[in-house]
Amino acid sequence: MSLQEQAYAELREKANMSVYGVRVSDEAREKSGAGVTVKEGGRETREKPVPAAFRTPLGLNVSVTPNPDSDYAIEYSGGRFLLTRKGHLLYDRLEFEKRPLYYDRKTSDGKWMKDVVSIVTNGCAAVWYSNECAFRRRDESCLFCATGVGEGNIFLKKSAQIAESVKAAFDEGVGWRIDFTGGVIPQRREIDYYTDAIRAIRETLGRSDLIAAACIAAPRDLAVVKQLKEAGFSIITMNIEIWDKNIFRALCPGKERTVGWDNWVRALEFAAGVFGFGQVRCNFVTGFEPRRKTLEGIEYLASVGVIGNANIFHSAPGTPLEGHRCPTPEWNLELHEKAADILRAGGITFEQATNCHPVADALYHDFWRIKEGLLPALL
Ligand code: SF4
Repeated sequence: MSLQEQAYAELREKANMSVYGVRVSDEAREKSGAGVTVKEGGRETREKPVPAAFRTPLGLNVSVTPNPDSDYAIEYSGGRFLLTRKGHLLYDRLEFEKRPLYYDRKTSDGKWMKDVVSIVTNGCAAVWYSNECAFRRRDESCLFCATGVGEGNIFLKKSAQIAESVKAAFDEGVGWRIDFTGGVIPQRREIDYYTDAIRAIRETLGRSDLIAAACIAAPRDLAVVKQLKEAGFSIITMNIEIWDKNIFRALCPGKERTVGWDNWVRALEFAAGVFGFGQVRCNFVTGFEPRRKTLEGIEYLASVGVIGNANIFHSAPGTPLEGHRCPTPEWNLELHEKAADILRAGGITFEQATNCHPVADALYHDFWRIKEGLLPALL
């Protein structure tokens, strides 16, 4: 088997794990040092931390989505971590990413810095700034979204906390860019909030040449887009989620009522003019419309310089779509391969795609890496 064939085989296993998750044995979880010396996964693993991710032999990054029923398992045996499938060894000697040291520090006002700013991948300091979305109050949340579900107190992180935590991540060398995400705050106050937060970060770091992304619901008032650019953001994200107008209306009622599909697309086009070709991202939730429809959206957006990113759907507890299944790994693989081809043909570079969408585990990035020989093992 050639290295490229091996890389595709690893990508198929990764797609399976992206859809069906991975079981982590108790022994592997305890021995891994997750939450102590090894970076732990997201909020859902807070009680029993598991490693956030591992790499396949050829270097594909696999995020660990725990699922006790998965055929895939991370086990610990003979002093090594193994990945098995149905009990058979798949990969030996798994290694996990080190936990940032600043995760053990607190801000001046006593918040754990890891709860304020977490490192995703690729040096991305992620700020989930609030658990509020104004659409939930009106029962107009996007049907797949868990923001605000079952949350006790609404939180809104303070600019000073964020700036202090970002500085800690930058000083340690584990962060070198910033990504904000969150819901819609009533009266669209997130726009002023973003402006204040980026100003605080710039002042605390003493520099203005930041790679920083702001995620907002597309505004009807397009001046907002310019405002965020002038405030210091270099990337803007506005997630239309669904390209089919009727399904968008059904799945994203708040976005439909307050903005509307046509205005959303117009805002993305406008943003590409303000932020530049390849500096605007638009996420899609996949599996609720025909694959060709999502690809049609990615193709149109690429033609105007917007990077469409197809997320793999995972149903979240407490949402109207709880219990719904994700399409098969094969379905997702085909979508992502075609998405990579569309973006490449549209003139988007790999650097722009990974800069705009700074995660290490997107399947379309992997197709790109393999096709262009960008995996270190293929160089
Ligand atoms: S607007 Fe964003 S945060 Fe609010 S429900 Fe939709 S996806 Fe979730």
